[in-house]
Amino acid sequence: MTRAISLRSVSKTYGRSTRAVDRFSLTVQPGEFVVLLGPSGCGKSTVLRMIAGLEQISEGDLLLDGEPANELSPRERGMAMVFQNFALYPNMTNRDNIGFPLKLENSRADNSERVEATARMLGIETVLDRYPGQLSGGERQRVAMGRAISRRPSAFLMDEPLSNLDAKLRNHLRAEISQLTRDLGVTTVYVTHDQAEAMSLGDRVAVMRGGVLQQVSTPREVYATPENVFVAAFIGTPRINLLQAVVHAPLEGRMSIDLGRQRLPLPEPLSPDHQLLRIQQGRRIIVGLRSEAVRIAPPSHARAGEVALSGLVQHVEYQGHEALVHLDTGSHAAVVPDLESARPQAEQHRRRGGSVSMLGRLKQRAVGGSVAVLDEPGPDQPPYVVRSPDRPAVTTSDLVVRTGPDMRLRRGGQVPLLVDLAHLYVFDHSGRRICPLPKDIPGLDV
Ligand code: ADP
Repeated sequence: MTRAISLRSVSKTYGRSTRAVDRFSLTVQPGEFVVLLGPSGCGKSTVLRMIAGLEQISEGDLLLDGEPANELSPRERGMAMVFQNFALYPNMTNRDNIGFPLKLENSRADNSERVEATARMLGIETVLDRYPGQLSGGERQRVAMGRAISRRPSAFLMDEPLSNLDAKLRNHLRAEISQLTRDLGVTTVYVTHDQAEAMSLGDRVAVMRGGVLQQVSTPREVYATPENVFVAAFIGTPRINLLQAVVHAPLEGRMSIDLGRQRLPLPEPLSPDHQLLRIQQGRRIIVGLRSEAVRIAPPSHARAGEVALSGLVQHVEYQGHEALVHLDTGSHAAVVPDLESARPQAEQHRRRGGSVSMLGRLKQRAVGGSVAVLDEPGPDQPPYVVRSPDRPAVTTSDLVVRTGPDMRLRRGGQVPLLVDLAHLYVFDHSGRRICPLPKDIPGLDV
């Protein structure tokens, strides 16, 4: 029987000070596939292990089908875990590995049929009498899946199950896992740091940062309506372009967004969400432009809603089917901390009560250049650090644009750009999304 899993304001503290998970709330519906996504160290595995019963919950409640479950043993929860390192018994055949959980339940029952059926489902029936050491990585992970499936668990808990495999196999098994869990209809919680994996697998994706849940939505919504700049930057490849900007809203005349050397004039009459920007007048904001929002084309080709910019070509990354053009538009990239690792020195420093100027010096060492801090961060918001306007960091490219692979571009050459304002994201100084409002995002029905 598949289960609803509910976490209510669950926290985990290790020792005196390591807050691995902080007031985490999430309900996974029966049969739903939810992915916990975030950089290494953000608390994903800890959440999973608390659901499994392998880790004590420090505060908050776990409910299984609405019943309190904090004190249930892992066995009573009836869930199956699949790990990154397969965790198979090397001295047992694959057949015995798959049958092991069944044997634990009833040592005298004949489970051979169930084991064979599971192996057929996974396409590993020909390797059942070998040992795990005689298999490829992909086959081994299938055996691990088989062991998880064989006793028909109430939920699957998967902790980076594909990250030890090469890219091609990972894609293949990803599709298999998706198909299998849907066929079985078993509630699944899946941990990964790979946003592409999360987006392709999850009915919903829960993005975490530093132990805190940032957003939980469908893959489409986390991409199109990221609640904050961290989610925007974590989801999507190439990464969203994030630029430091200031809203320019004169009493008379056209409102615009000042990007440094250039300005984005906002079309009139102002759309409802662009009107919201008026109150940001003179304040520092972060502009987000995904690659589909910018194209290389002259102003004469502008469609409705597009405005012109220009950039100097710094570097072209050839990718085969497309090229990524790195440009200098005279603006300054906003740097989002924690994207690679969830326990940044800045965050730790902030927790210890350090000053902003000290934080600046810390970051200065980290990025090898001078830095400034965007306004005062709110009490619960980490500061967003940007490169200082007066001393640009080593690389001056601030915008990455996609083009066809055959466009010939000279390094140092000036190219015209068109920005689609319908795809413009604006975040306030604390990183919260101001616009677009969800209803304004093309193609998104909310
Ligand atoms: P993730 O799965 O996102 O990589 P984890 O849940 O493994 O992150 O870890 C979250 C944080 O908790 C990390 O800072 C990690 O160092 C810390 N942590 C995890 N397990 C322990 C432990 N047993 N003792 C102390 N700290 C731990």
